[in-house]
Amino acid sequence: MSTRLYNPSICLEHLTPPGHPERPDRLRALNSALEGDEFYRLDRAEAPMGEEEAILYVHPESYAERIRTAIPREIDEEERESGHPQRLTRVDSDTVVSPKSWKAALAAIGASNAAVDTVFAGEADNVFVAVRPPGHHAERDRAMGFCLFNNAAIAARHAQRRHGAERVAIIDWDVHHGNGTQDIFQSDPTVLYCSTHQMPLYPGTGAKDETGVGNIVNAPLSPGTGSREFREAFTSRVLPALDDFRPDLIIISAGFDAHHRDPLAELNLDEGDFDWATGKLMDRAERFSANRLVSILEGGYDLQGLSQSAAAHITRLMKG
Ligand SMILES: [Zn+2]
Repeated sequence: MSTRLYNPSICLEHLTPPGHPERPDRLRALNSALEGDEFYRLDRAEAPMGEEEAILYVHPESYAERIRTAIPREIDEEERESGHPQRLTRVDSDTVVSPKSWKAALAAIGASNAAVDTVFAGEADNVFVAVRPPGHHAERDRAMGFCLFNNAAIAARHAQRRHGAERVAIIDWDVHHGNGTQDIFQSDPTVLYCSTHQMPLYPGTGAKDETGVGNIVNAPLSPGTGSREFREAFTSRVLPALDDFRPDLIIISAGFDAHHRDPLAELNLDEGDFDWATGKLMDRAERFSANRLVSILEGGYDLQGLSQSAAAHITRLMKG
């Protein structure tokens, strides 16, 4: 398998307050885990910045404008010297923007869409997109849960608009339910959204009976459950839905906060589970979508749990 990595450095410059779990160190930890010799074959490439029009694939212009105008100005030289903290603006109870957040968000969209272009052009079989801010909680017109714009949803629409994809599947194994992705696609049968997540947990959505127009498959897991229950849910609910849907492209909303070390949730997965789930999705990608698979980082807040899980995931993407 050929695997490409997009990890735009501007994504490090989206800042959050001290102690906030969604922090630039997440990407630093992930990047340093990918410095090992076993990743020498990873095709590291630069992605173009996202276009503002791409935001409008899934979000109304008024919402994009609300986020853009919330971006605070940079502190000046004098303020920096006097120890003035960087300006941050809250756009939701736990979601903030900093002076570079607009560029970081556009870079995340640009890298996600470039990943779609890459697999449709056959330049790589699959792509991992290491970006922040994450996206799956962003609803059509609402920022929440550390997310501004829904990167995976935009990438799915990009595949349909630019590459004629008829059916795109988004598989979300982040420990939180991707309420934003569900909100965007719940009445659209051309996109399948499948999620495994802890329930009860933020954001509160993701019950089994939320099925959209038959295109939403939620597989909630109880706090304290682990590998066995996750694999059972994946095997009995997610994979059969994927087999029925026969996607032209598989997008993974790859959060790694279901890892047992993660401080934000109580599931007990380990690296082996992410390796296993990746293999199952690659098997479907081979069968239905000429191997085309794009994996976009969502959550994961324990630096060791995140970096080891992402490394296992990317290792599997490279090996097949
Ligand atoms: Zn999460």
